[in-house]
Amino acid sequence: MNFIETRGNDGTHPKTVTFSTAILHPMASYGGLYSPQELPELGEDFLKAHLDAGYKELARDVLAEFKIDIDQAVIDEALALYDQFDDPENPVPVVKVKDDLYVSELYHGPTRAFKDMALQPFGVVLSALAQKRNENFLILTATSGDTGPAALETFKNRDNVKVACLYPDGGTSDVQRLQMVTEDAPNLKVIGIHGDFDDAQNALKFLLSSSAFKEKLNEKNISLSAANSVNFGRIIFQTIYHIHSYLELVRQGAISLGEKVYLDVPSGNFGNALGGYYAMKMGLPVEKILIASNENNILTELINTGQYDLRDSSVTSTTSPAMDILKSSNVERILFDMLGAERTRALMQQLDEEKYYILKDNELKQLQTIFSADFCTDEEGKKYIQEAFANGYLMDPHTATCFKTYETCREKPLKTIAYSTAEWTKFSPTIANALTGEVDTHDIDALKSISVKANISIPEMIHSLFEKPVAQESVIDKENIEAEILAFL
Ligand SMILES: *Cc1c(COP(=O)(O)O)cnc(C)c1O
Repeated sequence: MNFIETRGNDGTHPKTVTFSTAILHPMASYGGLYSPQELPELGEDFLKAHLDAGYKELARDVLAEFKIDIDQAVIDEALALYDQFDDPENPVPVVKVKDDLYVSELYHGPTRAFKDMALQPFGVVLSALAQKRNENFLILTATSGDTGPAALETFKNRDNVKVACLYPDGGTSDVQRLQMVTEDAPNLKVIGIHGDFDDAQNALKFLLSSSAFKEKLNEKNISLSAANSVNFGRIIFQTIYHIHSYLELVRQGAISLGEKVYLDVPSGNFGNALGGYYAMKMGLPVEKILIASNENNILTELINTGQYDLRDSSVTSTTSPAMDILKSSNVERILFDMLGAERTRALMQQLDEEKYYILKDNELKQLQTIFSADFCTDEEGKKYIQEAFANGYLMDPHTATCFKTYETCREKPLKTIAYSTAEWTKFSPTIANALTGEVDTHDIDALKSISVKANISIPEMIHSLFEKPVAQESVIDKENIEAEILAFL
């Protein structure tokens, strides 16, 4: 399968690229993204044949349908990482919570957030490609909390790849910070910034586009790449769990094969939702995809009114910080798929230059045949956490936003798969506040009080973070980031 560009071709890039080029060099013409030229058609026979398949077998066969230029041995090595999830037999448990609502838990990997689902195998694939081409890559990443730990974990001690990870000092939870600063490997550098996530992200964007910086890397024989969620090497692994979750509902007797379901996705950069969209286009029986946001509700506005308007908006801090995003990058791939490259380029250009775009009526209708959207305030999210807990289910504040869309966006009484993107351990102060009323607790105290209240033990990998030595001490001003990275290299 080949990949084409969402904003068309500018004559200086190849017209189509292979999967490996799309993931190693993800920058396409006019600032666009690479998208698959066509999608495989799975059909009911494929689903039927995989009713009893384990997660890895399903993943291997879905990836085979994409016909990507990665050796089978590398794919198998990548998928073997799902064996390190809590239950190797079932790395993604799907749990009935109430009525028609089932929660697909995507957080049972090493860093306890759903970023592991894609970044774990992606790390193996990218490192293998770099070795095969005899090239060295620097992966630059800026994180508000979940991507950083997952990227460090997957690239730790891998050949031909180094990682520099920027995080806002004081802007992540204690657990997230400790997951990063206790990572000790010679190919990893973690840098705290005096500033907020936007400062870290802007510094990253500046370096990614700086030819002077690239020049200095070239002298060291290093190319620059990125592991953010627009990289198709992550998206491809995010189609699989949607198919798995559907089959799991069939296995549990909740639906029969062919019956439609809703997918209910807590969304930020839209990678998770895009994976669901592709699965639907590949033949998964999906009625609609429900897009849950927090008070940064730009996606709700887009899907309900057709307007993407950043003119008077700024990011609001919420209790679901991984969704505190206004520029949702993967929406571009949906526009491209529905409207084509020419229109996508016009819309994205307008967004870059004028900070807004407005879809035509027929374009909006097309979007609304696939998606419905609503947003959940922190107060509402707290109520959903409390209600679910009263019913015996402990969940995090990102997952809680899906309970709002479950209530407000369904038009038919169909079974619904909501995605849980983080374990309770990653956002414990918010959950402790909902369950016991305590405020301003540090993670370690919140973890302990939830543990007592819910009669659940703190996972060892989280508990041990508080005793591990700090290996990454750098906390610097943003002016010094480039020098710090060059010194590390
Ligand atoms: C990254 C993240 C999200 C948002 O996912 P997207 O694919 O960017 O839409 C939601 N919840 C958590 C906990 C995350 O880490």
